[in-house]
Amino acid sequence: METIKLTARTSAAIRMERGGALQVINTHGSQVVDTWAVLQSDPVHGLSMEHTRAIHGRVHVRVGDVLFDDRRQPLLAMTEDTSPGIHDTLIPACSAARYRELGYEGEHDNCSANYGLALTSVGLSVPARTPSPLNLFMNVPVDAEGHFTFAAPVSRPGDSVLLEALEDVVIILSACPQDMAPVNGESQEPQDAEVRVYDPAERANWTKS
Ligand SMILES: [Zn+2]
Repeated sequence: METIKLTARTSAAIRMERGGALQVINTHGSQVVDTWAVLQSDPVHGLSMEHTRAIHGRVHVRVGDVLFDDRRQPLLAMTEDTSPGIHDTLIPACSAARYRELGYEGEHDNCSANYGLALTSVGLSVPARTPSPLNLFMNVPVDAEGHFTFAAPVSRPGDSVLLEALEDVVIILSACPQDMAPVNGESQEPQDAEVRVYDPAERANWTKS
């Protein structure tokens, strides 16, 4: 098992074999972690929130769900979740443009740039468009009329989600640097998170025990 500290405002790319698992731990409870996955064999294809929503007929994912790629192939499974189960699939990754919209002057840290940096760190090319991420722990309540708001996470310190790899993938995680809206809690302070990576053999033993 490898432990990776996901420092506030930064990203990481992690190669995972089919059968491995990745645990994303919300150390402080209030941090949103933008999550993507691409196929090692063909990184043009990867996790698709659009296809995952269509297949499940829901706008949110929950524990037990398989998460699909843009060719409707199973890519990941969310097999454990100790949090209240609130995660977002609707909101795009934050970008420099989003922070300018909020009044920031200059280039604010952002998840879209983090996505590119993480891909580059493992030798993958950066697509012109950032795919929609799975926003772990992000709380975007949707009402009966389809309106939604950006609310503070309801997760607690130490809550975690386990994602299992159903193919050989690269998973990209960004500790969202949003500090101009309550996305990362009412205090609007981005925090560190932690990631534990289990290889297939470790995951198999864990299941037996
Ligand atoms: Zn972000």
